[in-house]
Amino acid sequence: MPTARRGALLKFYFGPMDCGKSTLALQLNYNHGRQGRRGLVLTKHDRSGGARVTSRIGIGHEAIEVTDDLDLVKLVLSRPAIDYVICDEACFYSVRQIEQLADLVDEHGIDVYAFGLASDFRSVLFPGAQRLFELADEVCRLQVEVLCWCGRPGLLNARVVGGAMVRTGEQVVIGDTDVSPVRYQVLCRRHHRTGDLGDQTGQ
Ligand SMILES: [Zn+2]
Repeated sequence: MPTARRGALLKFYFGPMDCGKSTLALQLNYNHGRQGRRGLVLTKHDRSGGARVTSRIGIGHEAIEVTDDLDLVKLVLSRPAIDYVICDEACFYSVRQIEQLADLVDEHGIDVYAFGLASDFRSVLFPGAQRLFELADEVCRLQVEVLCWCGRPGLLNARVVGGAMVRTGEQVVIGDTDVSPVRYQVLCRRHHRTGDLGDQTGQ
């Protein structure tokens, strides 16, 4: 198989909410699986709240939840003959865990496909995403027709509490759930900077 001879790669696919990251992650897993390759699917803080990768369009796959102290090299090497790893929500992994992904590529010849947000609600890079930008062989911005309310491309995630955009707070707050007062809205850069959420009520 020629795939066994080429060098392994670390790829980072990033984009705002709803741009299809998890959908692409699952499609990629499906395609590689069909070629007979053995993969592992990881996630952290998936929207389902469980150890699954779920996409907005309704498909899902079971996954391993990445906890803060999980060693990703040990995890992957504990499984027999893994060819590739899909890392959803990689923006939430620690810097050390991103470096472990690079080790999997360089020392063990395992392909790593990472998916995640680049920046948080303040438009500041997540540490894990920053490390991916620094280390990845390939970086790809996903832009699957996510639009701001004004019609411009949606680039940044705004955190909305009580109908207003907030700019301070914890970097990671899970929102858009039944029990959370926090929701997120994708905005263009201009409206992220001005804090203008349009006429939407958030529904
Ligand atoms: Zn806008």
